[in-house]
Amino acid sequence: MDSHNKPSISIICPCYNEQEVLSTFTDKITEILQSTGLSYELLFVNDGSKDNTLEVLNDLTEKTPSVRVINLSRNFGKEAALTAGLDLAKGEAIIPIDADLQDPPELIHDFIREWQKGYDVVVAKRIDRSSDTWAKKVTANLFYKFHNKIAKIEIPDNVGDFRLISRRVVDAIQLLPENQRFMKGIFSWVGFKTSVVEYVRQPRAAGETSFNGWRLWNFALEGITSFSTAPLRIWLYLGIFFSGIAFLYGSAIILKTLFFGVDLPGYASMITVILFFGGIQLIGLGVMGEYIGRLYMESKRRPVYIIESDSADKQGEAQ
Ligand code: UDP
Ligand code: MG
Repeated sequence: MDSHNKPSISIICPCYNEQEVLSTFTDKITEILQSTGLSYELLFVNDGSKDNTLEVLNDLTEKTPSVRVINLSRNFGKEAALTAGLDLAKGEAIIPIDADLQDPPELIHDFIREWQKGYDVVVAKRIDRSSDTWAKKVTANLFYKFHNKIAKIEIPDNVGDFRLISRRVVDAIQLLPENQRFMKGIFSWVGFKTSVVEYVRQPRAAGETSFNGWRLWNFALEGITSFSTAPLRIWLYLGIFFSGIAFLYGSAIILKTLFFGVDLPGYASMITVILFFGGIQLIGLGVMGEYIGRLYMESKRRPVYIIESDSADKQGEAQ
């Protein structure tokens, strides 16, 4: 793609250790894009892969002019890689897609059809998660329920980053200055007229997932703390509740002592209560710490990603 011409469609593909799937992915998606008859660019963001992903991508740029490769200086995480892609994509419609072919490229036809009808956002909703493990299904479900209960924005169930967003939506996303970018939340936060197409999620074509349990847990925390302060506020109500109980119980003890005199049983119950409140207070502090940590990181105003090289620059130099 000539860098002065704006393509209609930009595909953004974040890649972390995806050497095995990239050429199948590129063949498949190129075939689909060509059949749409629209102009397009394929923007790969290499997120500090430790395998030969970058070499494979560089080969692709030489063979296919519509491919552009952004190479980040290290692994910044999928959210940052997506942000980099959104910042650099030039298309009128932008489609983030995973490299592992779990997001079926065929859906792009449906995306474009809905977009041409006038929708600014077209999301892909999984109607079947049978390719996910049991644990992932349960935890994902819990996360969406909990998140949507306490956050002001709603993240639709079973909808990932695979979607089409129009240029207007990308411009809106770029107005959000935060550098901890929970993209699912950001996509929902900006709003716009949304259409839903349904699909069945495939298992990974090759390679392995980089989201293990611990990373998913941190991702969930990120999601909840980025879009809700309810976990902070709950301590006020818990505090009021327990002080109320303590007041009533204290009054009962005073009355009992006035009428029946002093006795000193209850060592076990006292220890239990002390430990219980110690525990509750630590949890409260932990939650606060979580938010303070995020405030601290946010206040540094560090960039979300650093670009080491961009194949478009090299082409520019060569000219
Ligand atoms: N990815 C990335 N940076 C990372 C982890 C993942 O760019 O630090 C990319 C990865 O190459 C893939 C997409 O994000 O294109 C989704 O990752 P993965 O398939 O591992 O996640 P899952 O599908 O299991 O949720
Ligand atoms: Mg995947």
